Amino acid sequence: MDKNILKTLEEKLVEEKAKLEEELGGFAQRNPQNADDFNADFPQLGDKEDENASEVAEYSKDLTVERTLEASLRDVKKALERIQDGTYGTCKYCGKVIDEKRLMARPTSTSCIDCKKLFTE
Ligand SMILES: [Zn+2]
Repeated sequence: MDKNILKTLEEKLVEEKAKLEEELGGFAQRNPQNADDFNADFPQLGDKEDENASEVAEYSKDLTVERTLEASLRDVKKALERIQDGTYGTCKYCGKVIDEKRLMARPTSTSCIDCKKLFTE
């Protein structure tokens, strides 16, 4: 793969990683035992019954967002690891080089378009 394109993709991934960590940090605490795990803070709105109900509703919404962001963060980290070990940009199914346009649109892609149609990532 072209060095400049790889550099651009790496920058995109690093940027995405920072963005995801910032979003997660906004409402969740990083697990000190596991850097990939975040735990949503339980919101403290008050002790009245309706306030408690709102807390639970907000917490469950946060958990959903947290899981989505965590999954994205893991994908981004894996992609950065693949850049480090030199396997980035090759399809995990057929081993062919993944189209650069596809990687530009989605730097965490791990399969080529043909395999993507056959398998789900
Ligand atoms: Zn493939």
